[in-house]
Amino acid sequence: IVEQGVRWQPSLGGTLSLGRTNSFFLGGGRAMLNALYLTAEQLGVDVEYDAEVTDLVIEDGMFLAARLKRPIDGETEIRATSLVAAAGG
Ligand SMILES: Cc1cc2nc3c(=O)[nH]c(=O)nc-3n(C[C@H](O)[C@H](O)[C@H](O)COP(=O)(O)OP(=O)(O)OC[C@H]3O[C@@H](n4cnc5c(N)ncnc54)[C@H](O)[C@@H]3O)c2cc1C
Repeated sequence: IVEQGVRWQPSLGGTLSLGRTNSFFLGGGRAMLNALYLTAEQLGVDVEYDAEVTDLVIEDGMFLAARLKRPIDGETEIRATSLVAAAGG
């Protein structure tokens, strides 16, 4: 994660000894995400903010495209050779 631009912060000393079990991002989780998005953009990744994937086009077991709803132009389809599903849960 450090190679992707994220920085750690040493934990404060104290009776809980959090440094043994927890890691802390310098600037918190928001700074971590900003660093990761910056790295992605530098790698040429286009980020579609506020776009909802509504369906996946899969034919004969092969992923072909994702259908999504964008705030600007509504429904659209993005074709790709591969898909990484990272929708949480
Ligand atoms: C209250 C709380 C506190 C936590 N605290 C910690 C902590 O201190 N340390 C820790 O390590 N973990 C913590 N976690 C767990 C951690 O947040 C999750 O494990 C982690 O965020 C999962 O990452 P993810 O990328 O898999 O999913 P997410 O972070 O959930 O990202 C999934 C993304 O997909 C998007 N998405 C979903 N469906 C669609 C769709 N159809 N179209 C487009 N986008 C979609 C969502 O909007 C979201 O942005 C906490 C979780 C909670 C709820």
